[in-house]
Amino acid sequence: MKKLLCVLCVLALMIPALSLAELDEEELEIEEFDLDAGVPAEKAVWDFPVALEDMNPEYIILANKHYLLDKNYVPKDLVKVPSKPADGGIKWAVKPKGGQLLRKECAEALCAMNQAIRDDAPEYGYKDLYLKSAYRSYSTQKTMYNNRLKKNHGKDDGWVSKPGASDHQTGLGCDVVPKNWANKAMNDKMMKEPECQWMAEHCYEFGFIIRYPEDKQDITEINTEPWHLRYVGIPVATYIWENNLCLEEFTEQLQEAIQEYLDAGGDRSKVEAFIQEPTEE
Ligand SMILES: [Zn+2]
Repeated sequence: MKKLLCVLCVLALMIPALSLAELDEEELEIEEFDLDAGVPAEKAVWDFPVALEDMNPEYIILANKHYLLDKNYVPKDLVKVPSKPADGGIKWAVKPKGGQLLRKECAEALCAMNQAIRDDAPEYGYKDLYLKSAYRSYSTQKTMYNNRLKKNHGKDDGWVSKPGASDHQTGLGCDVVPKNWANKAMNDKMMKEPECQWMAEHCYEFGFIIRYPEDKQDITEINTEPWHLRYVGIPVATYIWENNLCLEEFTEQLQEAIQEYLDAGGDRSKVEAFIQEPTEE
């Protein structure tokens, strides 16, 4: 009984401490909260290591045999890559009809990268980089694929992608080789060239990744190609480089993050452009 009296006394002392105004505010908040709306949108946070504002959905588009590009897909803002290194360009190993084309931002990044290796050349003896292949249309890829099949008696040897599956159709994929490989058939021995090692280490600083790394062949399903660079933008390239991923793994992580964000009540309009789904076989 004594104890109960004490508790009552303490409570009586506490009540005046809570002002009436405070109580009113709390009541109002409870009334405003709409139970039917579920989790409020501000509770869903984008906690993927790369911010949405740091990614351009068009630059991280995945093209492979499971994610085929439409035959009518032509990237916008294709520009002719400048070919004079003295003017900040990069030499072309091959001059296709119409020139070597890449998306504008990618072309600029490639030229900046070539300038950087040229700046390092006096100290390390690097040879010039040559652009061997850039944008390829769906129909060009189709011709190349069929020619390769003919040469191999109908067998797909994994060196030329199917039409729609080529990274070159994105306008962000390019084959870049050291000078002494400019006129040679490419193979993975090129990896030993100091220029290729430089590219593997530094290309992310310019927004590129090595699209088909040696240790990811089971995931990319493409033979290693130390010459094939893919532009994704600097923040994504840095994340991929730091975590030793390939674009397929990055896409999987990103799609999972999008799903989690949406499941938590996130704003669909913010992530819609980043959603990618495999093409139906
Ligand atoms: Zn390539």
